[in-house]
Amino acid sequence: TAKQRGKAGFVRYVDGMGEPVLAHMQLGGELRRALDGGELRVLYQPILRLDDRRLVGVEALVRWHHPTRGVISPAEFIPAAERTGLIVPLGRFVLRETCRQAAKWLAEFGPDAPQRAAANVSARQLHDPDFVADVTAALADSGLPCERLVLEVTESAVLRGQQVSRTLYDLDRMGIRLALDDFGTGESSLSLLRAFPAAIVKLDKSFVDGVEIDDGQPAAVNARQAVARAVVQLAHTLGLDTVAEGIESAEQAAVLRELGYTVGQGYHLARPMTAESVSALLARQQSLTAADR
Ligand code: C2E
Ligand code: MG
Ligand code: MG
Ligand code: MG
Repeated sequence: TAKQRGKAGFVRYVDGMGEPVLAHMQLGGELRRALDGGELRVLYQPILRLDDRRLVGVEALVRWHHPTRGVISPAEFIPAAERTGLIVPLGRFVLRETCRQAAKWLAEFGPDAPQRAAANVSARQLHDPDFVADVTAALADSGLPCERLVLEVTESAVLRGQQVSRTLYDLDRMGIRLALDDFGTGESSLSLLRAFPAAIVKLDKSFVDGVEIDDGQPAAVNARQAVARAVVQLAHTLGLDTVAEGIESAEQAAVLRELGYTVGQGYHLARPMTAESVSALLARQQSLTAADR
């Protein structure tokens, strides 16, 4: 039988479609408790300039500190949160937390604060008729200026009709920046750039993996390099900023710089960290800047 009872009481039942429906339902119940009980925490991964390694932004990444299972990654519970609709209150929590923290950094570090703070937004949130109002409230309650907030959306989330399109244009009009996350992995990346008001393109990690490999062939033969180059050129032509995601080595950072990327994110540069660790990094950066003056 396909039934198994997990240690923490998760019931896994894989139906004919191979979909662990019950596991998701159980997870949903646990998630509700997690939300109410303060088990969700937000880490921030620095986004850095590739030349001088200055921090120019952060991306908020949620973690679930489960009482018995330890830290659970969003890849494991975001799908369940989307399915159960809990992504709406979860996303609202992350958004409010991100705005509050970014406003705090701004008050504390002024010109040395991260210029932008990004939160991931799922399709279900974009469909929620209250989403724009939630964003407006998060900004107003925190005092964070709109232009400091970035909302990251994926192609698949955006490719869903009128309501979503109206929401995105509303957010853009408010001065919020929209980033196309995991760019290049969807099916209509290029047409999307025309159809929605993106300000930032995040080159997906899958094109950064292997971008540095020199196989002795002309550069264009390295397909990832070719895509990475095309994306940055297109972005510049359209007046969009870029972020290269998932940089894991100095070699990758160097090649991406040569290709025209000025900003990147990845374990080689900085891992996702607590707000306190980001503050320590900002304090260090501030003292370096002060020494320069
Ligand atoms: P994402 O938005 O593309 O975020 C980047 C992911 O890549 C993060 O994984 C980050 O920790 C990881 N990463 C960064 N640099 C490197 C690297 O150099 N190497 C490798 N191997 N990985 C790297 P994480 O935190 O596990 O999040 C996974 C995904 O879950 C995110 O992908 C995003 O789609 C989703 N997610 C995370 N937090 C939220 C949230 O608050 N709301 C929603 N809707 N989705 C979220
Ligand atoms: Mg993201
Ligand atoms: Mg991404
Ligand atoms: Mg990604």
